[in-house]
Order: sequence, then C-alpha cells, then structure tokens
Amino acid sequence: MAAYQQAIDAIGKASHGESIYASAGISIKLSALHARYCRAQYERVMSELYPRLLTLTLQARHYDIGINIDAEKADRLEISLDLLEKFCFEPQLAGWDGIGFVIQAYPKRCPYVIDEIIDLAQRSQHRLMIRLVKGADWDSEIKRAQIDGLEGYPVYSRKIYTDVSYLACAHKLLSVPNLIYPQFATHNAHTLATIYYMAGENYYPGQYEFQCLHGMGEGLYQQVVGSIAEGKLNRPCRIYAPVGSHQTLLTYLVRRLLENGANTSFVNQIADPNIPLDKLVADPVQQVLAAAETTGQLGLPRTQIPLPRALYGSNRLNAIGIDFTNEHHLAGTGVDPTDYPTLLSG
Ligand code: FAD
Repeated sequence: MAAYQQAIDAIGKASHGESIYASAGISIKLSALHARYCRAQYERVMSELYPRLLTLTLQARHYDIGINIDAEKADRLEISLDLLEKFCFEPQLAGWDGIGFVIQAYPKRCPYVIDEIIDLAQRSQHRLMIRLVKGADWDSEIKRAQIDGLEGYPVYSRKIYTDVSYLACAHKLLSVPNLIYPQFATHNAHTLATIYYMAGENYYPGQYEFQCLHGMGEGLYQQVVGSIAEGKLNRPCRIYAPVGSHQTLLTYLVRRLLENGANTSFVNQIADPNIPLDKLVADPVQQVLAAAETTGQLGLPRTQIPLPRALYGSNRLNAIGIDFTNEHHLAGTGVDPTDYPTLLSG
C-alpha cells in the first residue's frame, strides 16, 4: 500500500496536469494489497481491500492520472467484477474517467465480460480504460483445473482460439468509443496490425492506444510510434514498467522468461529463422476454419489435453472437485464458501 502511494505521488507530480490519456498511470495488483483476495473471503475483500483500493484511487484522481486493476487468475474474475461494480458507483469518483481494468482474452467467458463492462460503463457514466491482454497464466489455469478436478477448463486449450477471442473482443471495445478507452497490450505484430486496420485510419488522440512491457516488443513499436512523415503508424504505445526491489521483481522476470520461452509465443517464433513468414502472420480465423475442415467440427479443444476428470486415462477417474469460486456451483451445491475451512477439516 505504501509503495503504491509513493508511486502515485511520483507519477502524479511528473504528469504536470496532462490529460489522463497522455500522462503516465499506475497499474496495481489487488493480491498485493490484501493477502485474502479470494471469493471465500468475500466480506473481508469488501470491507478491508475495497477501502484500500478507494484510497489509492482518490489519490490518483487528485493528480488526474489513470489507475488500473491488473487481471490475475481466472478464479478471481468474478470478485474483481464485484469490486469494479461497487467502485464505478462510488460517489467520490463520479464523472471521472481514470478507472482502468484489465480483461484477459483466454478465458472462455471473455466476450461476456466485455458486454458486462460496457453495460457497467453505460450505467455508471464513466468512460472506462480497458486493457485487453491475452492472459499471462495459461499453464497455471490448466494445472489448477486439473488439481481441483473441475468439469472443464476456464481457458481455451489452443492458442489460435485466444488470438481469435482477442480480435473479437477488440472489435467490441472499439465499437463503443464513448464508453471505453481501449488499451491493446500485445507484442504480436499480426494482432497489432489487425487492430490497426479494424480501428480505421482516421485515428484521433484518445481513441485507443497500444501497450507493451518494458524491454519487450521494441522492434515492433519502433515502427508504430512516431509520425507518418517518419514512416511510422502514428499510434501511441504506453510502456508497462515494473517497479520494485530485485526480490519483488524476480517473479515478474521469471514469468516473462516462461512467456517468451513458450514455443507458441509470437516473440519466440519471430526469433526462429526456421519459421516461415507466412506461418508467422497467418490469420488465426482462417486457421480455425481450416482446422474445422479437417476435424469436421468448429472450435474443438486440443486433444492432447484431456479434461481434468479424464487426466488418468482409462486407469481411473480424477477426483471430482467443487469450484469454490463459481457462483453457479456454490448456488447449485448449497455450499457456503465461508464454510470452506470446515469442509476441508471435515
Ligand atoms: P502471443 O505470443 O501472440 O500470445 C501469447 C499468449 O497466447 C499467451 O500469453 C496466452 O495468453 C495465449 N496462449 C498461449 N498458449 C495457449 C494455448 N495453448 N491455449 C490458449 N491460449 C494460449 N497478463 C495478465 O494476465 N494480466 C495483466 O494484467 C497483464 N498486463 C499486461 C500489460 C501489458 C502492457 C502487456 C504487454 C501484457 C500484459 N499481460 C498481462 C500479459 C499478456 O496477458 C500476455 O501474456 C502477453 O502479452 C503475451 O501475449 P501477446 O499477444 O503479446 O503474444
């Protein structure tokens, strides 16, 4: 909390009263503000975490810089939406357009989350800053669903589906410029180019922006940021720079190494001279359609990843689990999430 307050002061003073869109902003992780940020601790999240979030936001509002809530694991999505709903109707934030939220494209729920957010922006009369990302924790999401014995996976099992979802969601965000300021965070040149054309050539400041991570996508954004006269695309790119000590930044660094090391990752593939250019910039929609022609069905999951219950093949069924973050499950099973510790010991 103290580190975020310090950072907001530093960024706020450096912004010199520029517009929210032109000045630097801050991204926060709610899990860094409260150790019990989870559905089972709903009351504490609302009574302890929410006031901290509000304090930081009022401080950001004082400087008129954007404050953004990072996206974490899929099991925190619903509680983060509850916080956002409460937040958007906060009287002290009325009429302010600096509220930011990150949406991941890899959960299968993504398009519906976007509809929900657009509706919220309309009802609460804020133009929300929405960063669209593909999602950083694909492996952990798959693993968690397997360990918990869930009925399915919360995320797509094939990367091209995430790519298609990203583009479909980008289209939704761009279609409501009065309600959403879209922020497209990607290092994938094909994704970026598609959005560039989707948004149209008549760009105006404040329409949308791209985002990259500090030290990544530099070659790509050198061609994007800058005037048309210089041969660039004249689109802004915000750089996300992590701040902290060596110890606190280590996990961030490891995540980036994993991300870049994955052989499906665009930044990995572009560095591989054996991958032909045509394959690198293949249209994900065409790829999905081509796969459907071979399999006879559209959108089939990857066969190499069995459903969590079928993890042990014909040997035995994986134990079934209850998803303690899923409102439908909780309502259907009659389990009160606050009884979780009792259930575990029982
Ligand atoms: P690409 O190489 O095109 O895509 C890689 C992505 O594809 C993976 O990250 C994963 O999401 C998806 N993918 C890979 N394999 C599969 C598979 N088998 N099935 C389905 N999908 C798959 N991430 C967060 O979760 N929360 C944040 O708050 C967040 N903030 C970010 C801020 C910035 C400025 C940036 C640039 C990224 C941020 N990310 C965040 C990371 C982001 O989610 C992606 O991990 C990263 O940008 C890679 O996506 P890409 O489009 O650049 O690359």
